[in-house]
Amino acid sequence: MSLGKLYVAATPIGNLEDISLRALRIMREADYILCEDTRLTRVLLQKHEISTPTISYHQHSGGGKVGQLLRYLGEGKNLVLVSDAGTPGISDPGSMLVASAREEFPDLEVVPLPGASAVIAALSVSGWPVDRFTFFGFLPHKKGRQTMIKEIITSSYPAVFYESKHRIRKCMEEITTLSAEAEIKVEVMLARELTKMFETIYFGDPSELVEKLENDTDMQKGEFVVLCRKVKK
Ligand code: SAM
Repeated sequence: MSLGKLYVAATPIGNLEDISLRALRIMREADYILCEDTRLTRVLLQKHEISTPTISYHQHSGGGKVGQLLRYLGEGKNLVLVSDAGTPGISDPGSMLVASAREEFPDLEVVPLPGASAVIAALSVSGWPVDRFTFFGFLPHKKGRQTMIKEIITSSYPAVFYESKHRIRKCMEEITTLSAEAEIKVEVMLARELTKMFETIYFGDPSELVEKLENDTDMQKGEFVVLCRKVKK
């Protein structure tokens, strides 16, 4: 029996139309869709009238679940892996399943279905030269946070990272303090709620952005990508 295929599909980061025709077709034709949160992905599937059965697969899924998925691939079933939003494996679960599947079946076809990713969407509208950039994923909440922020402000290339609404203001304050201490001038771009109703993109000195966030608490809602680059004084 021939092996199934494991597709890794990007899904929208907000606007449900941001998905490729190929991803929709393959999701429709597949045997199962593996979802980080089945309820969330079902909204997308319903919008596009896809009735393929879903299976929950997330960062806490144990070896038993992985074993079951590998058995499906061994039986020739085609699986599509998705995360809640954007591209699986990019600050999202996914890489472990891909690694286990490749280890179990060295000849397995693992097929990307490219599309939305918040990091790339934010970089694309920055207008900054981003032929080289450094992606930091999520900043640590406590241990290692200051070290990473220092790395970000001293980076030779534009730095990009994800930050939660709970820490976005604190993050701007930290960048303000640490860049002043290091006598480095930086420019920050805040990309909030990309592709959604309240999409906002702000550029500025981090201290100006602290003020913006303080003056408009709506600005502290939603999802954020942060870009930061050194500028001449
Ligand atoms: N794998 C996803 C991707 O490729 O975009 C990223 C997943 S990560 C768990 C989720 C983080 O991405 C959010 O906390 C936020 O920082 C960022 N993000 C996701 N959607 C976003 C959006 N519409 N606007 C701004 N940032 C977003």
